[in-house]
Amino acid sequence: MPTILDKVQGVFGKKEHAEPASALQAAALTNAAGITAATEAESTTPAFDHGKVTVIFVLGGPGAGKGTQCDKLVKDYGFVHLSAGDLLRAEQNRPGSQYGDMIREYIREGKIVPMEVTIKLLENAMRSALSARAKEEKGEDKWGAAWAEGRGRFLIDGFPRKMDQAIKFDEDVCKSGFVLFLSTTEAVLLQRLLERGKTSGREDDNPESISKRFRTFEETSMPVVEYYRQRQKVVEIDSSPPIEEVYAKIRIAVDAALAMVAP
Ligand code: AMP
Repeated sequence: MPTILDKVQGVFGKKEHAEPASALQAAALTNAAGITAATEAESTTPAFDHGKVTVIFVLGGPGAGKGTQCDKLVKDYGFVHLSAGDLLRAEQNRPGSQYGDMIREYIREGKIVPMEVTIKLLENAMRSALSARAKEEKGEDKWGAAWAEGRGRFLIDGFPRKMDQAIKFDEDVCKSGFVLFLSTTEAVLLQRLLERGKTSGREDDNPESISKRFRTFEETSMPVVEYYRQRQKVVEIDSSPPIEEVYAKIRIAVDAALAMVAP
């Protein structure tokens, strides 16, 4: 039985080395805001069946282009895109959130927000998106996913950033399909983040926070990539070239991988 990696390498010939736009995503973010709301009874089986719900994690250092590439994939494949960072920032800014100050502090320090908060935000956002899309779609959508039957496709970017999140998400929320890993050098990341920082208004796009985020990525998030790599679940794409060039490779990889994991 070929693995995803075999399939993708077959397409590329060899292993490649090397942050919401839609109304739907906005709705998912808004509905996800109340972490304390819409919680399911604790259970030992994942909340979503991976036989019906495809989850692709998109990982890469800060500034690797995760959000940019996810936006393009949403248009071409009908994924629902959820960004862990966007969900956390929305919760941070939600009036009355008990987690707002804590999230702000973690983000400024480039640290990993405790997983209970991030995972619950993601689970709520997935549930909201599934029910919103189920209402929209009769039969199959134009990409062949029957959301009305509880089927769906998610791109989750910036998650999991730590091993405990990876394991807990698989156990409690949904077993992931594969990981799209966008890799490039710190020099490229730094230059992109400083450029973005001129207009992003983000509290963490400054040199001090950036260097902390780099350290967190190397020390805490790379082991997650390696964990999935050992399980033949990582498709790595060099994200140094221009956006369209990177996207062309991503499409080939996603087509090959979806053919194997999509229900
Ligand atoms: P991003 O928008 O992906 O660059 O993330 C910005 C910040 O949000 C990170 O530096 C973390 O402080 C926090 N964050 C994002 N994703 C996660 C996650 N999966 N787990 C915990 N904290 C996260």
